[in-house]
Amino acid sequence: MSAVVMKFGGSSVADADAIRRVLSIVSAARDRGHAPVVVVSALGGATDRLLGLAETASRGHTDADELVREELFALTQRHLVEAASLGLDRDRALADAMESSFQDLRETLDAIRQRRRADPVSLDVIAAAGELLSSRLVAAAMAAEGLPAVWVDARSVIVTDDRHTCAIPMMDETNASVAALVAPLVAEGRIPVLGGFIGRTADGTTTTLGRGGSDYSASLVGAGLGAAEIQIWTDVDGMLTADPRIVHEAEIVRHLSFAEAAELAYFGAKVLHPSTIFPAVDRNIPVRILNSRRPDNEGTRIVADPPPGHRPFAALASKRGITVIDITSTRMLMAHGFLRRVFEVFETYETAVDVVTTSEVSVSVTIDDDRRAAAIVAALLEIAEVRVEEQMAILAVVGDRLAIDSSLAARVLGSLRGFPLRMVSQAASRRNVTIVLPQSYLRAAMTHLHQELFGVAEAQPEGRR
Ligand code: ADP
Ligand code: ASP
Ligand code: MG
Repeated sequence: MSAVVMKFGGSSVADADAIRRVLSIVSAARDRGHAPVVVVSALGGATDRLLGLAETASRGHTDADELVREELFALTQRHLVEAASLGLDRDRALADAMESSFQDLRETLDAIRQRRRADPVSLDVIAAAGELLSSRLVAAAMAAEGLPAVWVDARSVIVTDDRHTCAIPMMDETNASVAALVAPLVAEGRIPVLGGFIGRTADGTTTTLGRGGSDYSASLVGAGLGAAEIQIWTDVDGMLTADPRIVHEAEIVRHLSFAEAAELAYFGAKVLHPSTIFPAVDRNIPVRILNSRRPDNEGTRIVADPPPGHRPFAALASKRGITVIDITSTRMLMAHGFLRRVFEVFETYETAVDVVTTSEVSVSVTIDDDRRAAAIVAALLEIAEVRVEEQMAILAVVGDRLAIDSSLAARVLGSLRGFPLRMVSQAASRRNVTIVLPQSYLRAAMTHLHQELFGVAEAQPEGRR
């Protein structure tokens, strides 16, 4: 039997009805001869609530105590109510497991309140409770339906470094634990059920993979198993031609290459965590994005070499809250070694640069994570003049054909005539054109560009896209 990793996001496990849909999707996959491995997110919205609790506790003001108690009560009740709706109120093992998570939460929140600080180690313990609870719940619901589900502690499987709240998996160790803890269950015909998003350092401290990280957990497990497919079950029909919250007419993209999907995820297509594709590429495992409310739809299939489609572009993606830093060499021309010194500053402050453009005397870069912007600017001021602009956005147009047809980039820029484009770049891979513009123009620019590049005149129902 071929293993298929099936990851269900927060809205796909939001309540008892959603969990029942998960059971029927998993059971149908089994009936088709697949060996499902299930990875689940926390119940929809639970991670936000948990991190909100940590924030309230860290404020330590006089009502914090009361507020934390109330919010924690609401969260525990929610899990107990859903368990009861699934007919699991008599499941002692589940009740004990859930109580032990609630107890960890109470203790960690108490410690945060006393210290008046939520450090990254405690934040990870708090956030991890969401996936620990949901995975216990889903595993118990499956078992109650007669499915041979086995709960697996994902923290023992995903081994990471100690960058708390955005930990990086250690591939060799993770592959070894997938082989030791997950593969044997699959071989026995059982259904392993794991929480996504969470892991553990080699010395046993709980970590998380960054927001939206359950997709990444699923692909790590899929790659470790050499699965036949990694399925990301969510609340939309697949990868759409643009963020549906911005462009209501966005349409499904049937096929994407690994490279296109990775670029879209990196530039903000929230439906995939930015790192999801990499483990799949290494083992050449197809990734599918599917809608848990419409399980019969085909979704989006992501492979190394998708069939050619009729549209020249794959999709648009965007990121808000971007900071642009212009760095101008204080000598007239860019001195030898100038760029190296500039990038060393970003390396020192462990801040990733997304888009770079250069002219003879200056270099402009964008950063997404501005937590260390002040220190970065101070260090850059020692070697250059620096100008900072906040509240910018990245708009990326992605498509493999951009690399072979140079008229396409011109078409993108032509379509954006009149918009205040602050930076424009086509990366070495040349499968994306990246534009930086003020955030206030993003919605209008994306809607207009979508109309120009994906407008109805071009859509052909039977085509690739
Ligand atoms: P899950 O909880 O299942 O992981 P997410 O909220 O993380 O779901 O991701 C799904 C959401 O991603 C969609 O509801 C949609 O609003 C958003 N999204 C942004 N860009 C895209 C895109 N290009 N295609 C599909 N969804 C997108
Ligand atoms: N529950 C986590 C989050 O909300 C991880 C995930 O859903 O992928 O970020
Ligand atoms: Mg997600």
